[in-house]
Amino acid sequence: GKADIECEVLVLGAGPGGYSAAFRSADLGMGTVLVERYATLGGVCLNVGCIPSKALLHTAAVMDEVKLLAKHGIKYAAPEVNIDSLRAFKDGVVKKLTGGLAGMAKARKVEVVTGVGSFLDAYHVEVVGEGGAKKVVKFAKAIIAAGSQAVKLPFMPEDERVVDSTGALLLKGVAKRMLVIGGGIIGLEMATVYSTLGTRIDVVEMLDGLMQGADRDLVKVWEKFNASRFDNVMLKTKTVGAKATKAGIEVSFEGEKAPKDPQLYDLVLVAVGRSPNGNKIGADRAGVAVSERGFINVDRQMRTNVPHIFAIGDIVGQPMLAHKAVHEAHVAAEVAHGEAAFFDARQIPSVAYTDPEVAWAGKTEEQCKAEGVKVGKAVFPWAASGRAIANGRDEGFTKLLFDEATHRVVGGGIVGTHAGDLISEVCLAIEMGCEPADIGKTIHPHPTLGESIGMAAEVFEGHCTDLP
Ligand code: FAD
Repeated sequence: GKADIECEVLVLGAGPGGYSAAFRSADLGMGTVLVERYATLGGVCLNVGCIPSKALLHTAAVMDEVKLLAKHGIKYAAPEVNIDSLRAFKDGVVKKLTGGLAGMAKARKVEVVTGVGSFLDAYHVEVVGEGGAKKVVKFAKAIIAAGSQAVKLPFMPEDERVVDSTGALLLKGVAKRMLVIGGGIIGLEMATVYSTLGTRIDVVEMLDGLMQGADRDLVKVWEKFNASRFDNVMLKTKTVGAKATKAGIEVSFEGEKAPKDPQLYDLVLVAVGRSPNGNKIGADRAGVAVSERGFINVDRQMRTNVPHIFAIGDIVGQPMLAHKAVHEAHVAAEVAHGEAAFFDARQIPSVAYTDPEVAWAGKTEEQCKAEGVKVGKAVFPWAASGRAIANGRDEGFTKLLFDEATHRVVGGGIVGTHAGDLISEVCLAIEMGCEPADIGKTIHPHPTLGESIGMAAEVFEGHCTDLP
């Protein structure tokens, strides 16, 4: 059949991967079509992920901070939470950003086609819009950025008291008792928000520790500071059944920390991971290979097995993070334009925006051990940081890992307030192959939390720090 629209580059999905790929493609002068099933651009990250969660986490962090002021002799009355206003604030944040994206697409003359897209063959995508209206887009090159969705637990009842992260972010109310299934970053961020708002929380995790992927020394500090948030943290335990009753969702457990009896919750958050959307886009009709789990395999130029079709973001694999998707997007667009670009990152940072925050980049200690890489460890405890003490938050620490063979920094981790903002310097140091002296002899502003990175390197070199 005939195509309704023809373009040089078609981008499927308008999350951080997709909109970044479309914008870069357009900036490089290629005629670009961006297909998105939802009315707003921004994907999971802007609509139901990174951004709304951070709007709520910021609010929670301020509420928690105010409580800590009691120690400084400043006491506030208990907070009155107007959940409708809080929800409106969060929705406003999302709207501002997604609206901004629509403006940016327009300014670049990216043609946004709204509807569900699927491949007809290796050069055509059909887009089914509202009411079933169909449009066929013919493309010379395509970039798949169809993202991922929350994994469901088959035995969970269909009930509005059982939610995934999207449901939890809707903030329908402040539950009295909540079960968070899955102790990863997403689950713990939502636990932080709800517990600050007044919910009592249980966490259940199959593995032997929360926040998998981070070094245990970092997580330990977070755990100690957050112990009072949780009634039960059930490690090496899993949920095995659930029943919706009038009184709540009745959940039964199995494993090391399983309570004998089923427990009753008025909110259950399922945060057990995300699965890629690779099997839902007609990829086979384009000849694009998709794994059983729905991942699309790509090379370092983000090409699938079909050379003029690229894939980026959550759909190509872990880590499922927005900043990884954006970098892959730029590579894909540049390669589609004929440039010799590669995805060649030495590090992809991870951040849990909890309180305190936990951030890490490059290799972890556990990873170095597993790979047999011998590293020297530089640690600076925030108990020795003037700024952290002045902030009344000196529970954290900063660590750097230096490869013993090359002396270069290969990894780092920070636990403490603002760790997510602080980790960027470690990212840059890893990318630039810094040695301890490069970091230690860089003058950092005093007194700042960022100073702890310089001080870790200084102490590692055998110098004591002169500043408190
Ligand atoms: P997505 O954002 O999933 O976008 C894919 C888009 O494609 C969607 O808009 C979807 O509607 C569209 N689409 C799919 N199939 C079709 C189709 N057939 N036709 C048309 N459109 C289609 N990451 C961070 O880096 N930092 C964070 O703080 C962070 N917080 C998070 C918090 C939560 C609660 C969640 C759930 C995720 C969070 N993430 C965070 C992860 C981050 O959201 C994802 O890594 C990121 O959104 C992936 O981008 P993407 O472009 O690959 O896909």
